[in-house]
Amino acid sequence: MGSYLRPTEIRDALCALGAGPRAILAGGTDFYPARVGRTIDEDILDITALPLAGIDDGGDHWRIGALTTWSELIAAPLPPCFDALKLAAREVGGVQIQNAGTIAGNICNASPAADGVPPLLAMDAAVELASVRGERSVALRDFVTGNRQTARAPDELVTAVRVPKPEPGTASLFLKLGARRYLVISIVMVALAIEPDARNQIFRARVAIGACSAAAQRVRALELALIGHPIDAALSTIACAEHLQQVLAPIDDIRGSGAYRSDAALTLVRRALAELGGAMRARAEAERA
Ligand SMILES: Cc1cc2nc3c(=O)[nH]c(=O)nc-3n(C[C@H](O)[C@H](O)[C@H](O)COP(=O)(O)OP(=O)(O)OC[C@H]3O[C@@H](n4cnc5c(N)ncnc54)[C@H](O)[C@@H]3O)c2cc1C
Repeated sequence: MGSYLRPTEIRDALCALGAGPRAILAGGTDFYPARVGRTIDEDILDITALPLAGIDDGGDHWRIGALTTWSELIAAPLPPCFDALKLAAREVGGVQIQNAGTIAGNICNASPAADGVPPLLAMDAAVELASVRGERSVALRDFVTGNRQTARAPDELVTAVRVPKPEPGTASLFLKLGARRYLVISIVMVALAIEPDARNQIFRARVAIGACSAAAQRVRALELALIGHPIDAALSTIACAEHLQQVLAPIDDIRGSGAYRSDAALTLVRRALAELGGAMRARAEAERA
């Protein structure tokens, strides 16, 4: 049996991590399932008493504390650019899981099917890390390095996720395909964020796809191809397949074959473009009327 610590000060937590490896425990919704059938003999650092919850407006960015739960995120008054992340939050397990599971836990667990990662990638999020050596910020795309792999050093604690504020008018959407509607691990998920220009054409687009590669991926070529297009439901007719093929490497597993995932990713991207493009067009027309 290892030792169990539950500090209330961040400094104490960092000192504990600096003194030697410890398994970090937050909401426990990935932690405990990963240890079913075996005795927990590691040294544990329970971080749930640390002051790391809550969402703050940092001026040019939003700061989501590491212990912010999915339920807290859903309830927070946030601008439309957070819609994709809120939609993803509603898809993480059921309400009990959303009440306990944290955003940092989701990205630190680094499952290819982590629902929080594509929306945060589509928001250009960065991860704040702290240790006794100091603090650093790492872009999420560089933080999740592979299947269950991150750039976190053993003595580092994730303290927050930082989201830069996009231009006003930016809207976003998240779509998830699972084997059933609720309480399901993703087969494919797509997060899309669109920033319009004054003529309601695409000024900037961000597309991220999860569960189709070891770590969720942005589709830069498609993002570039979308620039300048009028924002409406016809966005779904833009050629996407080649761009997706360049970055996706879906595997065959119990939830679906690689070929099925590729096909589903294409369908979901087209659907997301049609839904978000159509909704933004309708909103722009309503504002003009
Ligand atoms: C029934 C069930 C259904 C689920 N459904 C979904 C789903 O649909 N979609 C989905 O994406 N996930 C799902 N999950 C997984 C899980 O709920 C989420 O990934 C959740 O966000 C994890 O957060 P947590 O606080 O519980 O993390 P924990 O389980 O406490 O920790 C997860 C990992 O992150 C590390 N960690 C946690 N916080 C930090 C930190 N601040 N700094 C450094 N390391 C840290 C831990 O050491 C551990 O390795 C499900 C889980 C269950 C049990």
